[in-house]
Amino acid sequence: MRKIQMVDLQTQYQQIKSEIDKGIQEVIDSAAFVKGKKVSEFAEHLQTYTGAKHVIPVGNGTDALQIALMALGLERGDEVITPTFTFIATAEVVALLGLKPVVVDVDWDTMNMDIEAVRRAITPRTKAIVPVHLFGQCADMEPLLSLAREKGLHIVEDACQAIGAEYTFSDGRKAQAGTMGVIGCTSFFPSKNLGCYGDGGALFTNDDALAARIQAIANHGMVVRYHHDMVGVNSRLDTIQAAVLDAKLPHLDEYISARQKAARYYDEAFRSCADLLIPVVSPHSTHVYHQYTLRLSERVASRRDEIRNRLAEKEIPAMVYYPVPLHEQKAYQDARYKTGDFPVAERLAKCVLSLPMHTCLDEEQLAYITSNVIQRFKDLKI
Ligand SMILES: *Cc1c(COP(=O)(O)O)cnc(C)c1O
Repeated sequence: MRKIQMVDLQTQYQQIKSEIDKGIQEVIDSAAFVKGKKVSEFAEHLQTYTGAKHVIPVGNGTDALQIALMALGLERGDEVITPTFTFIATAEVVALLGLKPVVVDVDWDTMNMDIEAVRRAITPRTKAIVPVHLFGQCADMEPLLSLAREKGLHIVEDACQAIGAEYTFSDGRKAQAGTMGVIGCTSFFPSKNLGCYGDGGALFTNDDALAARIQAIANHGMVVRYHHDMVGVNSRLDTIQAAVLDAKLPHLDEYISARQKAARYYDEAFRSCADLLIPVVSPHSTHVYHQYTLRLSERVASRRDEIRNRLAEKEIPAMVYYPVPLHEQKAYQDARYKTGDFPVAERLAKCVLSLPMHTCLDEEQLAYITSNVIQRFKDLKI
């Protein structure tokens, strides 16, 4: 049996080696390492794939989020609402820009932003909401979009984990993660569902003026060469990464199917275990399983580390995404928040457990993982 990893990029590379190698070699031969033609070609292909009017590639997903907030022209002290159960980058850029992160709790089933909690958190200083499509399924965008419209707020989607996930509106209209808010952001970090071989990211928008601003901000605020109209940053997707992504994009749908197939295998195996709650798929969104995340019952959650160690002895990795919600992070201590304020996120942080999830899990590995996970829970003497 192949070694089990949380993400197996080596096996995936072997399957598409010739396409990747050819793309990288072309970039080296052209020596156009920055702003080469592969970057705009890939952006165009991703436009077609997502349905977004504009795709602006940047250096990474965190930069994408930062540039999005910069492009909206927010001012110091403006409030930006984010879920408290997410990767730190979502709130980090808010704090870096001198804006005020306001965190809200999440929904127990989908682990995504609780829309009623967002409504309660809105103040006269609120300017933007950053929903995170956590673990690969869309936050409930329809009520969120109507709330934002009602209150005149911007929505910047953090779609770093959810490229290719599809949301269905009540009128049957479908839209991809990252294309519903005024700006959407994604990451091409290697382990993401569409990952490059280094850092990468992109912004999506349907707004022509915003697209131009984003483009300029990502390039030192420059519109005409050496004329800087605004304070910007240097954030570019390099051409080699664009070549890798352009080779992988045609496979994204198969990759999503492979993840969904592995998730179904896990679901079937764990459905009858009282101590394991399988991921809940929202009726509004497909799930692209960036992570396959179980929630452990109250009875066994306190034994999570022990379970992880036992699985590690069997060479099965399992990870905790995320062990500490934003409001309990040292760097984000804030007099407004205390432990107990966001009970769902706090409970999730104590009980989530993510299993290996990638595009190359085979039946033998899945059978080995599931039987060992089930056995480790049976072994627990409580
Ligand atoms: C990965 C990720 C980011 C940041 O992306 P990078 O490319 O690593 O900067 C932001 N938000 C979420 C939810 C992520 O998973």
